[in-house]
Amino acid sequence: MNRCTRAFIYKDNIKFNLEQIRKYVNPSVKLCVAVKADAYGHNAVLTSKIAEEAGYEYLAVASVDEGIELRKNGIKAKILLLSLSTPEEMSDFFKYDITPLVFSHEYIGELIKVSDSYFKDQTKFEVFLAVDTGMGRIGTYPETAGDEAVLINSSAHLKLAGMCTHLAVSDSLSPSDQEFTDDQFKAFKLAVENVRAKGIDPGICSCEASAGLLNNPEMQMDMVRPGIIAYGYYPDEITEKYLKSKGFSLKLKPCLSLETKVVAIRSFPAGKSVSYGRTWETPCDTDIAVLPIGYADGLLRRFSPGLTVTINGKNYPVVGRICMDQCMVDIGKNNPDVKLWDRVVIFGPEESGALNTADVLAKIGNTISYEVLTCLKRVEKDIR
Ligand SMILES: *Cc1c(COP(=O)(O)O)cnc(C)c1O
Repeated sequence: MNRCTRAFIYKDNIKFNLEQIRKYVNPSVKLCVAVKADAYGHNAVLTSKIAEEAGYEYLAVASVDEGIELRKNGIKAKILLLSLSTPEEMSDFFKYDITPLVFSHEYIGELIKVSDSYFKDQTKFEVFLAVDTGMGRIGTYPETAGDEAVLINSSAHLKLAGMCTHLAVSDSLSPSDQEFTDDQFKAFKLAVENVRAKGIDPGICSCEASAGLLNNPEMQMDMVRPGIIAYGYYPDEITEKYLKSKGFSLKLKPCLSLETKVVAIRSFPAGKSVSYGRTWETPCDTDIAVLPIGYADGLLRRFSPGLTVTINGKNYPVVGRICMDQCMVDIGKNNPDVKLWDRVVIFGPEESGALNTADVLAKIGNTISYEVLTCLKRVEKDIR
């Protein structure tokens, strides 16, 4: 790890976004912010503390260990586990008070066994029932939701506290995708009805992440589960444009900058190739700045060609292939604006001095801001 290659988390921007979302969502609707994958790279403990202060009821994680980390750092809000675990991990749900999503007779049956041996008292531990309405990932079908709710509530130590489904194409505005989303919503309501028909209270019903919330405000139900918008990015460009056209405004601020420093400046003649594969060569006499950041840090190989980086308020192109630990930037001959050891911002919020956001990188790399933010593996993160 290079010390000068770092990410900075702008905690006030996270707070700003969470407060904006709170104002945007219907006041009676509960909020669950996704803090999985270390809060999309933004520090899960920090984000969870800010969310608690902003009155968020739930935090969503992807693994038991992510939940445990929050508890060990004093987080008191409810923690919803969005992915499934294996039986060995289940007793930690109880130990650390992590609310699991459950479905299938096998999984619920196993959880009942573990809960029966864990609890010696009358505890009724809350679980959420996952419903598959079209995502094709986890969840029971609407037709079987009632039976699974019965299985949960007839156990000695579990009780149904909520129901969740996940929308597969809520970020798309095409009519056929909109129709698919409407069908998912109908199927979810049917699942909820089937649970009620068994005389069981379905608890907190939730179907929307960021995109659903923005595109289908009428589907907020009892709780929404935004992730990416908390970190300052719209799920995609279409949604942002669509919202603007409808006159909705949800102002968001990016919350993370990725930075490094110029560690060498080389003067090259015309016609000298740069980096692996010799995919680029200097078109004329020019100076090349070397940066100690590469794809092992999360600067994806497919960002070049296309990527520019900001040095002292101006953008310069990354040239040649991005290496594992380094990349090269064409700064032009004798450029007075770029000096050895100068700070380089790859992307970030306005106040970082960046001219790029994670969305710009995503577009170059044919991916989404989610991946740009969560792939910063080797990078040390400081709070600003
Ligand atoms: C990740 C996730 C979310 C949050 O998604 P965003 O698109 O970031 O808002 C919500 N619900 C579930 C089940 C998820 O897996």
